[in-house]
Amino acid sequence: MIMTRTAFFEPAGPDTGPLSPAPRSATIPPVSQKATKNPDLRDLPKVDVLLGTQPFADLITQFGRVLVTTETRAALEDLRERLKSGAQVSPEELDKAALLEAVNKRVTKLMLPKLCRVINATGVILHTSLGRAPLAERAVESAMREASGYSLLELDRESGKRSDRDKLVSSLICRLTGAEAATVVNNNAAATMIVLNSLAEGHEVVCSRAHMVEIGGSYRMPDVMRKAGVTLREVGCTNKTRAQDFEDASGPNTAMLMKVHTSNYAIVGFTEEPELAELVSLGKKLKLPVFYDLGSGSMVDLAKFGLTREPCVPDLMKSGVDVLCISGDKLFGGPQAGMIMGSKDLIEKIKRNALFRMVRCDKVTLALLEATLRLYLKPENVFERVPTLRAIARTEDDVKAEASKIAATLDQLGIDASIAQAQSQIGGGSTPGEYLPTTVVIVRGLGRSPDAAATLLRRNTPSVFCRIEYDALVFDPRSLLPGQAEELVAAIGAIKQ
Ligand SMILES: *Cc1c(COP(=O)(O)O)cnc(C)c1O
Repeated sequence: MIMTRTAFFEPAGPDTGPLSPAPRSATIPPVSQKATKNPDLRDLPKVDVLLGTQPFADLITQFGRVLVTTETRAALEDLRERLKSGAQVSPEELDKAALLEAVNKRVTKLMLPKLCRVINATGVILHTSLGRAPLAERAVESAMREASGYSLLELDRESGKRSDRDKLVSSLICRLTGAEAATVVNNNAAATMIVLNSLAEGHEVVCSRAHMVEIGGSYRMPDVMRKAGVTLREVGCTNKTRAQDFEDASGPNTAMLMKVHTSNYAIVGFTEEPELAELVSLGKKLKLPVFYDLGSGSMVDLAKFGLTREPCVPDLMKSGVDVLCISGDKLFGGPQAGMIMGSKDLIEKIKRNALFRMVRCDKVTLALLEATLRLYLKPENVFERVPTLRAIARTEDDVKAEASKIAATLDQLGIDASIAQAQSQIGGGSTPGEYLPTTVVIVRGLGRSPDAAATLLRRNTPSVFCRIEYDALVFDPRSLLPGQAEELVAAIGAIKQ
């Protein structure tokens, strides 16, 4: 079928009037008739002439003159190039109807949003490539209001005077974590950079060899330090570093002691590293601030769900650490942001850095962050309201019930589906080696290979992501959002052959 308009903008009826192309099948010569002479360059229609005709005028009404003109030129240029290079071009391709179709395709492709809703059935709760934390409904509502109007971002309504945009969130961060002061920037990578640059530029920062993390992309601790203008003083061994190593390496040019959470790997076996409290007392003795790049890090204790490697921020702040930073979109379950907390004088120094403005958050992020932080003020409900925490807190029985229901519905559609016990990952560069028990739905026999089926599911709207294991498609309901199970079943049903 030749579509003249996509259903996205306007349902294409059986006949879209003047936009319908002429039936072409009858006039296209069989491939064997190679003798067909290419049309002449002079046969190409003129842009102005084409645009003056009715179907093109309709396209202009729909998409605007600029886009349609540009894409008509481009479509003609394409043909011109092919004719010049001697590639085979059928005379029908120069027809108004064929050109209209080509232009329509180009414009539609441009106008279709590249992002679409996603069903994450991978079981990876914080999938970095799928945008990490889905946001709490209340946070999104608040941000919508903030985004579409003017805001009190930097104005104190009592005095009518200018205020600090941090005020929206810093007091909430302090209340929840026990920190003396706090600020926020665009992400945790920016947080680490601005802390290092503000507090140690031109000096040495002592850090364990075990903490030379790479988070992904170009975020590697030694490179971050270099770019922040500090000199890394690496101490200890990969598996063992002691407080004494930090002390031995500290000298007149040392500005800070640093600890980095090994968010995405674990060093196990014959290992040792100083506890944060130990580093803090050493820092006090040497009169050096201690900075902890925690990365993920939760505002609530997740140990009861079996996640013991991810320390809880309020507990860490009790140790007296001078500065600590976490991501907004990892276990916290909020927008991409970097929350920096610590002693008042150091936070103020960070905010005075000329680079600070380059990494500050916009009003929408701040609104999302503020609303998410507020949800933590009522711990009784936070596990229902923050989707990341909800996914972590779902009981085995709850996930199993959803898996059974999905499998049963697929079964009714004649699809081979069974359930099995498995494990979900937290993901997002957190809690390596720690998994949550889950029940997955295993789907076979859709009449195509698992790879082909997975591709079709990704192409679906909403786009579905699952795992491929044991030559089957594996769907983990733990990372589904409420109400997505039905859409998931429909998507799987739609690709059955
Ligand atoms: C994730 C992480 C980062 C980077 O944080 P983003 O918010 O992704 O910029 C930095 N350091 C650690 C230890 C991390 O876990």
